Amino acid sequence: MKNHHIKKQSNVRVLILGGGTAGWMAAAALSAKLAGTGVSIRLVESAEIGTVGVGEATVPHIRHFNASLGFDEADFMSRTEATFKLGIEFRDWGRKGDAYIHPFAAFGREIGGVPFHHHWTRARRAGRVPADGLDAVSLPIQAARMGRFGHPSPDPSSFFSTFSYAYQFDAGLYAGYLRAYAEARGVVRTEGKVQDVSLRADGHVEAVTLESGERLVADLFVDCSGFRGLLIEGALKTGYEDWTRYLPCDRAVAVPCANDGPPAPYTRATARDAGWMWRIPLQHRAGNGHVYCSGFMDDDAAEQALLAQLDHPPQAAPRRLRFTTGKRRRQWVGNVVAIGLSAGFLEPLESTSIHLIQLGIGRLLDLFPTSADMDPLDAAEFNRLMDLEYERVRDFIILHYVATQRDDTPFWNHCRTMAIPDSLATKMELFKQRGIVTLYRDGMFLEPSWIAVYLGQNILPTHVDPRAALVSDAEIDRLIAMEAEHCRRAASSMPAHGEILSRYKVQV
Ligand code: FAD
Repeated sequence: MKNHHIKKQSNVRVLILGGGTAGWMAAAALSAKLAGTGVSIRLVESAEIGTVGVGEATVPHIRHFNASLGFDEADFMSRTEATFKLGIEFRDWGRKGDAYIHPFAAFGREIGGVPFHHHWTRARRAGRVPADGLDAVSLPIQAARMGRFGHPSPDPSSFFSTFSYAYQFDAGLYAGYLRAYAEARGVVRTEGKVQDVSLRADGHVEAVTLESGERLVADLFVDCSGFRGLLIEGALKTGYEDWTRYLPCDRAVAVPCANDGPPAPYTRATARDAGWMWRIPLQHRAGNGHVYCSGFMDDDAAEQALLAQLDHPPQAAPRRLRFTTGKRRRQWVGNVVAIGLSAGFLEPLESTSIHLIQLGIGRLLDLFPTSADMDPLDAAEFNRLMDLEYERVRDFIILHYVATQRDDTPFWNHCRTMAIPDSLATKMELFKQRGIVTLYRDGMFLEPSWIAVYLGQNILPTHVDPRAALVSDAEIDRLIAMEAEHCRRAASSMPAHGEILSRYKVQV
């Protein structure tokens, strides 16, 4: 997130409804970035309602969010029981028995001005590299497989500068961490349940009334009330774009257990009969969950399947959740901006939700009203930008399902053959025909991420850049072997992830 400057002195009163990850991220960022502008911020949350209680895996952008608030990494990690995350391992997605890691890094380097994956595809087609051979040419994948972690180098000429990383953290502790930060910057927290919402004559929200009878008036309302969408939907009836036809999973069950040995520096997503299971290793425990489609599996069976594969007893009762994949038709309406689950949810497969919160907050700051009167242009631009990103992320997540070769259950048969958005169909066709990924230069998931999933799930382009043939097979083999050796050596030189984490133990 950039440093945002509000041009005019503004006395806008902001009310954030909800104290989950979205509410407290918004409160922390707004209080820091709008300091000195005259903006006042209040956050209302209800302990009785609680938060969704999941959402522990992130993507590298979160580091920019934390850094922009001035968080010290060691302090943040110890207070949130965080671990480092080099990528996501996908097991059994392409075919049963397959495993690949989507790292936060590109594979290999250009050879003769041609992207590495074109050369790799030629070698793969000729049988000179194995299907999982891509792992060897990725430093973070090698490190992840060895259970090692090291910070990337800030020196762009260093081989260690070629990857990024994210965190896995305890969502409740992170919200608490943000809360302390926001309250220290003047955010006023009110405990209470919103019972009523009153609208002005122009349809904007005027105030919310708590169960206690307290009435809270504001100029701008940030709806972080979770799946309920209390303001954006409950009061304003904005409507929801349902994407279940593309992303059919609609339920989840989550349960924590002890870690099995030192926490791995990556998240795992294992495809199952009617969905997939996650494993997110934190310092003090592992988060486990089963995301599934209720049309293909019932809740009891899903819970039993999750419990059956835990290697330690559950540390809490399993928590069941329901959701509808999709997004609010508009995320900023009148004087209400929805951020977090109230704005939409694409299912947790690539850990995108917290990033979309971060993006929403960044856009809100970019377009922050300079007075209590809202400019519809700001809302229109916010909605355009958020729609674009939701659709890009949606396509990337659908890819994991549609690019399966599995035909062993009705769920996978459905996913493999379902209709997909034209935007994704075009991208997939370009890759299948010629290995083209240059369409993905903007947004959350860039070219390397798409390549990781395509090749990881055995989608090999039929033709590649003809210039790749100008380099001899022997030279390509030599360069691939050299790259693999570099990666192996560099990964081996990194400390064990567990050893690094021991430096970030919670200070009491
Ligand atoms: P919530 O956590 O539900 O918070 C809502 C807040 O609103 C609460 O404080 C509640 O008390 C308050 N509230 C609601 N109604 C009222 C009322 N009437 N009065 C007062 N207060 C009220 N995201 C990731 O990035 N990575 C992941 O790995 C990931 N995994 C997920 C797994 C699952 C199964 C699910 C469902 C989601 C996952 N997410 C993940 C998404 C992530 O959990 C959310 O983006 C994140 O927790 C933000 O939630 P929220 O703050 O919008 O909502």
